Amino acid sequence: MNSLWSDSHVGKIADNPLQLRVYSSRLLGQDPDLVLHGGGNTSVKITEKDLFGQDEEILYVKGSGWDLGDIEAEGFAPVKLKILQHMAGLESLTDSDMVSMQRAAMTNPYAPNPSVEAVLHAIIPFKFVDHTHADAVVTITNTPNGEDKIKQIYGERVLIVPYVMPGFVLAKKIYEMTRDIEWTQYDGMVLLNHGVFSFDDDAKASYEKMIEIVSRAEDYIAANTTSIVNADNNAMPDLQALAVIRQQVSTLRGSAVYALMDNGAEACSYASLDNVDAISSRGPLTPDHIIRTKQLPLMIDQGDTEVNDYADAYQAYFDKNASQQQVCLDRAPRWAVWKHQGLISFGTSLKEANIISDISGHTIQAIQMAEQLGGWQALPENDLFDMEYWELEQAKLNKSKTSPEFQGKIALVTGAGSGIGKACVEALLEKGAAVAALDIDPAIRGTFNRQEVLEIVCDVTDDAVLKNAVEETVRHFGGLDILVTNAGIFTANENIEDMNDDTWQLAMDVNLTSHQRLMKYGIPYLRHGIEPAIIIIASKNVPAPGPGASAYSAAKAGLTQLARVAAFELGKDNIRVNTIHPNAVFDTAVWSEEMLEGRAKNYGISVEEYKANNVLHTEVTSKNVAEMACAMAGRAFAKTTGSQVPVDGGNDRVI
Ligand SMILES: [Zn+2]
Repeated sequence: MNSLWSDSHVGKIADNPLQLRVYSSRLLGQDPDLVLHGGGNTSVKITEKDLFGQDEEILYVKGSGWDLGDIEAEGFAPVKLKILQHMAGLESLTDSDMVSMQRAAMTNPYAPNPSVEAVLHAIIPFKFVDHTHADAVVTITNTPNGEDKIKQIYGERVLIVPYVMPGFVLAKKIYEMTRDIEWTQYDGMVLLNHGVFSFDDDAKASYEKMIEIVSRAEDYIAANTTSIVNADNNAMPDLQALAVIRQQVSTLRGSAVYALMDNGAEACSYASLDNVDAISSRGPLTPDHIIRTKQLPLMIDQGDTEVNDYADAYQAYFDKNASQQQVCLDRAPRWAVWKHQGLISFGTSLKEANIISDISGHTIQAIQMAEQLGGWQALPENDLFDMEYWELEQAKLNKSKTSPEFQGKIALVTGAGSGIGKACVEALLEKGAAVAALDIDPAIRGTFNRQEVLEIVCDVTDDAVLKNAVEETVRHFGGLDILVTNAGIFTANENIEDMNDDTWQLAMDVNLTSHQRLMKYGIPYLRHGIEPAIIIIASKNVPAPGPGASAYSAAKAGLTQLARVAAFELGKDNIRVNTIHPNAVFDTAVWSEEMLEGRAKNYGISVEEYKANNVLHTEVTSKNVAEMACAMAGRAFAKTTGSQVPVDGGNDRVI
């Protein structure tokens, strides 16, 4: 591991300790081998003038909720150093009280809550204190005789601290261990099964001590292990099985989840190890991961009872370790080892699932290294339980959380590049869903540009491409819950006797057959979806056709009939099928200003009057149709299938 410190970068901020603190915290936070997602913390001690002009020592310590990788100055909470130091001398203190006292000792009431390791930072008598959960160091301590190995690597230059819970107990322990020591003899501290501290009065020196300590651990591992050989894997996972696993985990969690499948070489090789069951059943890399990953992953081999077995085992673990007032968390796994296939990470948001994916990726590397160093050995179950059921974590459970209606849900929308389809994607996103957005126009790529949207160029009339798009969606997010089958083409101004065969065929292919095929490919996954729904975008032309549009109207009428039959066929699977008949939606790619002006002129009215030429005298927009699609996908239509609902401002021929 190399130092990333740049003197030239630091030039401008060399005299500003808080800015230096921000700079080197980011250097630490940007290396996932040092800290992952909110792990680790840093601080700087600064003497400032208080309101009355008196000098006061302030500890600026990382605020909770901030990530070292992108922390700003306002991410550090300023706390009166003296008060924190006095707290370390208290006989006992609950962590909840510690958090309250830390907050009360802040000089800026608007700053974030100080880190739970603030008291520990306060008693280390150096200006800069850096703390990480470096993989290499923790891996070595998670082996038999880990402590001896640490002594062998560092000699007397680091203080070794046995594992205790983070928070007040840890601060107190170190306070007592260090009362009579000369701190300058140490470059840092290794906290067994937890992480590393380095410290110095100089920001660069403290940072580089951290890099040096971690590098020595990395060198030790390199010298005592052989690198892992991972076989390339290009196989497509069993998508049907993936959707079933996701459904079972969602049910157990009480909320739809994404199931991100990693079957890359590293994940697949790990999942193919002969002893994968044994080495996966020992616990996490560091105890702070348990809050995100739970103690153990789900092991999937064959059979459908594994998710329920996991839930039973989790309940037994809770019953064995819990005290009376503790509340059992949901019993759903956060990640899975799917034998010979790879890893799956679950999350009610993509953010959560991605964090878990990062952590599990680091965990499987650490496990395999530790196996070569004598055997992977995580903390005992009761220590892990204490961390998972920490009072500070349990307190968060009581805060009511409102989540968006489609959180964790997966939708697929065709014709998503413009008009109604695009509005549907936006409305679904707003309600928390992840969406596969299909469009024939390659400009779909980059239209939404966010991780919740999978943008796929797809000609819905190309059978193989359409099938692939559905599979890609399941592969990417783990399943399928909502299908908005919208892609369409308007063909008109050809009477039946003059109908061009190509026009007729195109209208049928796009407006009817492609919808049937999309349903055909989607249904096997929707069957294992969460409250699954199909929304068909048909047309006002079905109940109220006009001359010159026979191909369009006949295809849309066929589509409506298809939806009615689908409602019958899919009722047994709880898949709801409902149809929208939009009319006069002018903010779509179909309608140009020129066309609108022409139509309005034809009727001798203004464009505005033409647009609102309906019973309600209102303009109908794509967004109005998208809101109806969301209603049909959600709770409002939970008990409705086979319906046809107009979104047209009221049409006198339909009413
Ligand atoms: Zn820590």
